[in-house]
This record gives sequence, structure tokens and C-alpha cells, in this order.
Amino acid sequence: MILFKTTTDLVKWLDAQRQKGNTIGFVPTMGALHPGHLSLIEAAKKSNQLVVSSIFVNPTQFNNPKDFEKYPITIEKDIELLEQAGCDVLFLPSVDEIYPGNFSKNRTYDLGFLETILDGKFRPGHFQGVCMVVHRLLDIVNPDNLYLGQKDYQQCLVIKKLIEIIGRQTIKVHICPTLREADGLAMSSRNMRLTEKERAKAPAIYHALLFIKDNIVKGNLAIIRKEATEMLDKAGFKTDYIEIADANNLTLLNEWDGHQKIVVLVAAFLNEIRLIDNMVLS
Ligand code: AMP
Repeated sequence: MILFKTTTDLVKWLDAQRQKGNTIGFVPTMGALHPGHLSLIEAAKKSNQLVVSSIFVNPTQFNNPKDFEKYPITIEKDIELLEQAGCDVLFLPSVDEIYPGNFSKNRTYDLGFLETILDGKFRPGHFQGVCMVVHRLLDIVNPDNLYLGQKDYQQCLVIKKLIEIIGRQTIKVHICPTLREADGLAMSSRNMRLTEKERAKAPAIYHALLFIKDNIVKGNLAIIRKEATEMLDKAGFKTDYIEIADANNLTLLNEWDGHQKIVVLVAAFLNEIRLIDNMVLS
């Protein structure tokens, strides 16, 4: 695996690869890698000659400064894991490399309704920060294929919208399934920050999703949402939201017709740690 720390070197190297006809699959991450991340590398390897991954803990997407300060960093282990997974290139930029002096931090992306719901509502500014970094990374890496995890369901829709806004529709987006621990907890870098006691409670999020999957019937959704919230309360969570939405566009639903493809989305805190998860039901 080749490691690049500067944009200039990476762009030059990738240009040469493109001229040789090599296709590029890109997996952006914030590091503290786990098998979920590596499953995206594996998917990228299947359909591209070259796989580029990036590790950058993006300060502009953290609405909570404490969360940024405490974000886990395990660079040496990450490099080892990427190498074992057969990743070809790792881009490991500094903040100045991603946001140089002449970078316009004033640009905003018109995400419309997507930014007013769920994590858009509960984490003000978060998706603008995501768009800022992904826009910059796409300009640098210029991939043919982009690999994202379904774990961050709303983020996938935001990035698809970003690609439209910046007119880069030739980049094909691939959404890969959520990898889970044996007890159902969605793998996440933030899981490393859970205490042993919190870790034992954490699968309640998955159980709440399964509860909705197993009990949802057509009609009003208020009661099932309330019951799932109570499950999380009992397990010691403080819930930001449990919502049921149209799986294609995230329109929030109060009623279900029994046919529409829907997604259940949860965000909840266990003490300081905020976990998110979702499940698509069809
Ligand atoms: P992050 O490092 O959290 O920014 O995540 C980088 C990429 O990995 C994003 O596209 C995530 O959606 C994806 N990802 C994170 N957790 C998982 C998981 N458990 N399964 C599959 N993909 C994941």
C-alpha cells in the first residue's frame, strides 16, 4: 500500500494511473477501522483496479467539540488492517491539506429537506461539514466508484445529493450493508469508547429495530414508535429520535400503507456516546 500525505503527490500519482486505464474505487473514512470499513474496501476491490481509502477526522462535521476531541485514533493499526485488506492507496492528509488557506469555508450546500430531519435536525451543521470534506476528497481522488455504508443511511442520501449539486454524476455510489457484532450492535468506531457496562446495554438499539420490524402493521405508527422508545429508555438510553421513513427519500411517516418500502432510523445516547442505526423493511 502506498501512503500519501499531500494532495499534490496523490493527484499526480492518480492521474498517471488513470492514463493507464485503471479504474479507481474510493472509501473515505475517519479511521479507527473495524470490519465494517474493511467490507467497503472488499467491495471496492471487486470492481476496481485500484482502491483508495482516506483517513481524516473531519473537524467541520463535529457539532459537539468534545466528540471531536475524543474521537478514537488508531492509525498504526488502521494501516495494518488496510494493508491486510489489499487496499492500494491510503490518503492521510492534515487539516491544512484538506482545508488550505484559500479554501472557502463560506460555501453552503442546499440539501433542502434532508438537512431539517433526523441527524440534520439533531446535529446542526453536521451535514454541511460532511459535504465540505466529501466535496474536497472527490475533487482530489476523482474516483469512478464511491463506497459508503448503509449504517449512515441519511449520510448516503446527503452524499448522493451532493454529487448532484456539484455535477459529478459520473461517480457511481455503492451502498454497502451494515456489519454487526454477534449481538447485533452495528459496528462503529464510537463503540470503542463504550465502557463495559455501556457495551452490554448497547444492543438494545438493534433490539428496538427488530421489535419494530416484527410488530409493525399498516396504519398509525405512533404507538410502535412509543413502545420502541420505551425499550431504549429502559435500557438506559436517551433517545434523540426513532423515526420511520420512506426508504427512498426519507420522508417521515406517521402512517404506513403496509406496502411502501420503509426504513426505521434510531439515534440515541448511552451517557456521552451517541449511537445511530437503521433497518430497511420492505
Ligand atoms: P466513518 O469512519 O464512521 O466515517 O465511516 C466510513 C464509512 O464506513 C462510511 O461510509 C460508513 O457508513 C461506513 N461504515 C461505518 N460503520 C459501518 C458498518 N458497521 N458497516 C458497514 N459500513 C460501515
